[in-house]
Amino acid sequence: MEQVDTLVVGAGVVGLAVAARLSQHREVILVEQGHQFGEHSSSRNSEVIHAGIYYPSDSLKAQACVEGKAKLYRHCEEYRIPHAKIGKVLTAQNAQEEEKLASLLLQAQNNGVDDLYWLSNKELSLKAPELNAIAGLYSPSTGILDSHQFMLSLLGKLESNHGQYVPCTKFLAATPKTGGGFIVTLSCDGGPFKLLCHNLINAGGLFAQQNATLIEGLAPINVPPLHYCRGQYFSYQGKHPFKHLIYPVPEEHGLGIHATLDLAGQLRFGPDTHFINDLNYDTDASAIDIFYQAIKRYWPQVDNRRLQVDYAGIRPKTQCQGQQDFQIEGAQRHGLTGLINLFGIESPGLTASLSIADKVATQLKAELK
Ligand SMILES: Cc1cc2nc3c(=O)[nH]c(=O)nc-3n(C[C@H](O)[C@H](O)[C@H](O)COP(=O)(O)OP(=O)(O)OC[C@H]3O[C@@H](n4cnc5c(N)ncnc54)[C@H](O)[C@@H]3O)c2cc1C
Repeated sequence: MEQVDTLVVGAGVVGLAVAARLSQHREVILVEQGHQFGEHSSSRNSEVIHAGIYYPSDSLKAQACVEGKAKLYRHCEEYRIPHAKIGKVLTAQNAQEEEKLASLLLQAQNNGVDDLYWLSNKELSLKAPELNAIAGLYSPSTGILDSHQFMLSLLGKLESNHGQYVPCTKFLAATPKTGGGFIVTLSCDGGPFKLLCHNLINAGGLFAQQNATLIEGLAPINVPPLHYCRGQYFSYQGKHPFKHLIYPVPEEHGLGIHATLDLAGQLRFGPDTHFINDLNYDTDASAIDIFYQAIKRYWPQVDNRRLQVDYAGIRPKTQCQGQQDFQIEGAQRHGLTGLINLFGIESPGLTASLSIADKVATQLKAELK
């Protein structure tokens, strides 16, 4: 039977980052069920490099976002990935929202994001022209990037370290082997194929829970629930006055219908939040009025005839209510040495990917001591 030190399942940005990182010291194979890498959440997001403002201080999200942001900017410089630190304006429309911004400022400071500052009225009208806001916070370290180029650079790193990337190959099952490691069944062109690996990393994103149920010996209690939370975008055709990202105060499940820019300056709004039962990326053009009303609150001059339904992405939520965290679960949690499951890697997973990869490497090293 063919053997490999580490098998990574799933070539989204997280699987790619993990595979690239582990390939520095290990022999790695990265399998992807699709024809291409990054066709799910990793290509259906806002492409924002988040600062790390919103997440509870002791959460993995906060830590991995702040660490990941610094690593990502360095990586973008080193690998010449198109990116821009364009900053973002957080806006308040009333006194209650201003209080919320004040608590976000404190939260950001607790998370180690110490560059946020209040905008004066003049700065606010310069940074966010045409905006209806009584107060604004500015986050200079928020940015945008070309996520496809980022993923390509990770693939390049994996391959230059002699790791292998195998698309059109699905993880079907794993059985722990006496004495350590896993016998893994994969489906590829020629039918099922068995492989022996010492370490198995489940970076399946929206399929991570399903993959986990295919691992013999993993107790169901170690597989958290999965709730699909779809978010769709509307693009805005033609000219607009914005040079920075514009965010309202966040809501329970997302960051509110905000305005993001891509590297070409195209403006888009979203994502909204809807829990759905099946994994489908359908968009709903009839949501235009809800978007229009939400945008009009902070940008009264928005022209609804220029809004066009664009694409949707799905967040792999582990709970329907309240704050949830990333879960990076190794043997300490489930007892199977060499197995790491990644659950609930929703936003800011793109920003945090390089930090998540380091955390996986550290956990594996600690387990195998
Ligand atoms: C609407 C939306 C907006 C977002 N905006 C941002 C943002 O602006 N900034 C930010 O930092 N983050 C953002 N995120 C979060 C970010 O996109 C995700 O956290 C990140 O892309 C997750 O990457 P992943 O590799 O875990 O998952 P995915 O990209 O879903 O990749 C998982 C891969 O695993 C493969 N796979 C699964 N099971 C198997 C199997 N059995 N065999 C083989 N292959 C398998 C899948 O085919 C898939 O390609 C956003 C997310 C959404 C949904």
